[in-house]
Amino acid sequence: MRSTTYLDLAPDVRARFERLRAREVILKVDHLTKTFETRGGRTVALNDINFETHRREFLCVVGPSGCGKSTLVRILAGLDRQSAGEVLLAGKPVTGPGADRGMVFQGYTLFPWLTVKRNVMFGLEMNNHGRTHAEREALQWLDLIGLGKYADAYPHQLSGGMKQRVAIARALANQPRILLMDEPFSALDAQTRARMQSYLLEIWRKIDITIVFITHDLDEAVFLADRILVLKANPGEVAELIEVPVPRPRHAGQYVGPEFRAAKDRLEELIHPPALADDAEGFPEMPRLANVTDEVE
Ligand code: ADP
Ligand code: MG
Repeated sequence: MRSTTYLDLAPDVRARFERLRAREVILKVDHLTKTFETRGGRTVALNDINFETHRREFLCVVGPSGCGKSTLVRILAGLDRQSAGEVLLAGKPVTGPGADRGMVFQGYTLFPWLTVKRNVMFGLEMNNHGRTHAEREALQWLDLIGLGKYADAYPHQLSGGMKQRVAIARALANQPRILLMDEPFSALDAQTRARMQSYLLEIWRKIDITIVFITHDLDEAVFLADRILVLKANPGEVAELIEVPVPRPRHAGQYVGPEFRAAKDRLEELIHPPALADDAEGFPEMPRLANVTDEVE
């Protein structure tokens, strides 16, 4: 019998992708290129990137360090300008930051001098919502993320995972079309990280949001994504766009399942091709530090 590959989609997974593709395109990245000119020379951070994300899709972007993941998300956010090409959000070109995009980054970006509630209210007030409305919305979001009773706490009183939950609530409170996340769980310990992943999927299922989630953790990408955009470095280009064969709802037990393994194997192949995986230089010769007679290996 042939072993499962990432291309083998079970009928229900296949049907799910068909439904996904039938939904409107929220994000279109069209021939996007970004070059940086520095004293050291020219870096092509992104070269002719093309992809589309459908409404309520969960797209992960993976790739080796320096392949342009953060550059991509900054351009999508409108924080940086591309050198060529276009980003269309619900059909309109992105030319700068906007309330239609929420953002969560790796570092804790809450304002330390504001309470949790005021942090969530901040964006709403910036977008001209009155204080009463902003407060009501903020409290609803805090309840949704299970942190209602921390409304009056300050960020330093929260754990890392709780801070990122507040950052997610703050981003979602503005009701963006799309949530951009750049390695949001990278600073968390493994257990908290796993909990945050399940928790993010739960929120995503409850509301109408499209997520672009950057990570360099392949397990995280397979666990979360509908599709995974794989980038390669120098120049940053699309290596492949993978449909994740793992059924939903996702749960930790799937990590050892054949679909998960197949998707992960494909990512490994793309990101660590065999020729490069064997470091050409090898490990340096270790000096012998002690004269041991009892050989352990
Ligand atoms: P990733 O997030 O995938 O690690 P980045 O998007 O941060 O990658 O960077 C992609 C490439 O662009 C890297 O080679 C990086 O050195 C370069 N780069 C990113 N930002 C700048 C900048 N502001 N000026 C010059 N080069 C940059
Ligand atoms: Mg980065």
